Amino acid sequence: MPNDARSVFDQPQAAALAHDEPPALRYTSDTRFFGHPRGLSTAFFTEFWERFSYYGIRPLLVLFMTAALTAGGLGFDRENAAAIVGIYASSVYLASLPGGWIADRWLGLQRSIFWGGVLIALGHLAIGLSALLAHQVFFLGLILIVFGTGMLKPNVSAIVGDLYPEGGARRDAGFAIFYMGINFGAFAAPIITGWLSEKYGWHWGFGAAGVGMLIGIVTYRIRTPRNLGPIGARPSADAAGQRRVRNIVIAAAVVIATVVLAAMAGAFTINPRVVAERMTIVIGAMAVLYFGYLFLFAGLDADEKKRSVVILVLFVFSACFWSAYEQAPTSLNLFAKDFTDRRVGSFEVPIVWLQSATPIFVILLSPVFAVIWSALGKRGRDFSSPAKFAFALACAGLSYVVMVTATNRVIAGGGVGVRVSMLWLVVTYLLQVIGELSLSPVGLSSTTKLAPHRFVGQMMGVWFMSIALGNLVAGLIGGNVDPEKLAEMPALFQHTATTLFVAAGILLVLVVPIRRMMEGRRSG
Ligand code: GLN
Repeated sequence: MPNDARSVFDQPQAAALAHDEPPALRYTSDTRFFGHPRGLSTAFFTEFWERFSYYGIRPLLVLFMTAALTAGGLGFDRENAAAIVGIYASSVYLASLPGGWIADRWLGLQRSIFWGGVLIALGHLAIGLSALLAHQVFFLGLILIVFGTGMLKPNVSAIVGDLYPEGGARRDAGFAIFYMGINFGAFAAPIITGWLSEKYGWHWGFGAAGVGMLIGIVTYRIRTPRNLGPIGARPSADAAGQRRVRNIVIAAAVVIATVVLAAMAGAFTINPRVVAERMTIVIGAMAVLYFGYLFLFAGLDADEKKRSVVILVLFVFSACFWSAYEQAPTSLNLFAKDFTDRRVGSFEVPIVWLQSATPIFVILLSPVFAVIWSALGKRGRDFSSPAKFAFALACAGLSYVVMVTATNRVIAGGGVGVRVSMLWLVVTYLLQVIGELSLSPVGLSSTTKLAPHRFVGQMMGVWFMSIALGNLVAGLIGGNVDPEKLAEMPALFQHTATTLFVAAGILLVLVVPIRRMMEGRRSG
């Protein structure tokens, strides 16, 4: 309907409506998408294509950057390349903080998602063109994807929430379906981009990811008026507030563009490892300052303070978990390249296909975990969130024990040139997914439940910061998988495993005191 189309993208500036104004009822009570609102299908496919593009290029990055110039790569050393992947992935999560703010205070969810998608597609275009232009354009592409994803990812999740104003089990089911969209995208992407990049060249792989995002934004634009209507069409700020945010964003964009252009022109050089190390410190310091502010100046009562301590503990251990899990595109991807026998008959499985193991396990195991948690819950035997976190850390620890064993087999077999079965990596990913399913949804829901009401949005940001921190640390560790350092590799994986087991042990000791802290008044 043309009227609807106008209301979505050219809404009147003076309006200051919440996301769930009455006309939305027609869209939220709809049941035409497997019993869910059709808006969920729009969110599902938009996120599918966004994750397709993200997971389509992420594992290619380290391989492309470390490939020799003669092989069409950038000829970087592994440590720097992995640090860049860490900075990139971590920045994607950090960018969701301003991304959510822009949607709330300026553009509204719908337009933020659209423009986020446009930025991502432009990023892919830049990466595609970098084959013809200078390699600096490749990094410009990554930066565009970071900002685009920051504007798209948190806001498409928020739209899913807005589709179920009544909350409850239907909303949980909606999010479970949405999470499947994420993982279907993450599963399909490496299959396609991995095959294209090995058969035809890097830029075919990068290009396919970009085409995916383009399909995503075109369908989003066409379907939004019919499927989402007014849901998420308007920001919560009034016209003056929107103008203020727009001006701040424009000023920030000018500053960022100037710095990026100066770097591209060679005005200063960037050492990725140093940047990654500094970012780790800055994010850690931001967390310390934020919690310091919360405890000292935010006027929390004793009970709210206790629950905020629990969130702080979950923040620290969540970062530990992700720093192991997010080594998939670096350490484990490099292990797949150098030390894994990928032959199946006469066919050689492309390196990045192994990355599809994680999402396929998530798709297969999510329903199993849902049944287990709810069965335990019904019997009053549900584990507390710190206990589930400890279990997740132990699983991640075990996954690295598997890697220690695999590496030792390479060494025992005679070292460089020896390749072990793909099953070692597959089992590693399986254990990590068991950890993910015990930690990720639990962390998200505990954070929203424990946060004092007026700080829920900020606490979600804290959760994203823990993932950002994990990605950075993973990038710093990830470049050490190297045939030239084969002798050090068992110790490298062992170190990750030991850290995870120690973290799990500490958390187990803390389970009882944390449970007491969580048992306080729930009114917040
Ligand atoms: N795989 C999920 C996604 O891409 C979650 C990743 C994470 O939380 N680190 O959204």
